[in-house]
Amino acid sequence: MCSGRVDLKFILRAFSNGMDGVFIGGCRLNECNYVTHGNYHALNMVLLCRKIMEHIGLNPERLRLEFMSSSEGLHFADVMNDFGRQVKEIGPFGKSEGIGEDELKSKIQEVTKLIPYIKLAKREKLASRLESQEEYDGFFTPDEIDKLFTEVPSYHIDPAKCQACMICSRRCPVEAIAGGKNRIHIIDQETCIKCGTCFEVCPPRFAAVQKITGEPVPPPIPEEERMLVRKTKKK
Ligand code: SF4
Ligand code: SF4
Repeated sequence: MCSGRVDLKFILRAFSNGMDGVFIGGCRLNECNYVTHGNYHALNMVLLCRKIMEHIGLNPERLRLEFMSSSEGLHFADVMNDFGRQVKEIGPFGKSEGIGEDELKSKIQEVTKLIPYIKLAKREKLASRLESQEEYDGFFTPDEIDKLFTEVPSYHIDPAKCQACMICSRRCPVEAIAGGKNRIHIIDQETCIKCGTCFEVCPPRFAAVQKITGEPVPPPIPEEERMLVRKTKKK
């Protein structure tokens, strides 16, 4: 219904399903039927996605966003013909960029997995309203995108601090936290999507979840050491 509903994930899914180009048609800016002005969100998300595509070695021209009204049939036809021609010229996805099938798959998977983190890290920019082409061009810089990927955080539960309250495991959106009653919790780094929820919800009096950037994550404690031994008050 709204171009603002088109998520980064939908675009990557289309590419990973073999599309050579993705086109998004949105209502003209400032002509949104809703107070949300979702087309501004779509614009920011597309600008971000195009920079991410460049970052992983893909031609960003494969992704196009155009604003138009439903009464502009001829304009729509012109735009689609032009985009079709352009995508044909660029050639098959990945192959034209010299990226092998397996490498392409793993690059797309890696970015897809990081979408919650990317959206969180760029939430302020994604919510802003750009008014001119000049603003579009430099909105996300290559350095900023490099940093986005080199500073991906990891989350780790400090076994000495975890009190097995189970709040984090209940709130984790992908069930990446193993624990249970009276069990010190651990994070499965392969499943974790870096959303940071566990870091936010771990009660400050425990502060057991650590955010780690640029350093290796300590290995999880062995299974047999996960039973929580609570200290009892001396009489
Ligand atoms: S950051 Fe925490 S809550 Fe988010 S996916 Fe990873 S383990 Fe789960
Ligand atoms: S919220 Fe904190 S204290 Fe509670 S189980 Fe998770 S890491 Fe442990």
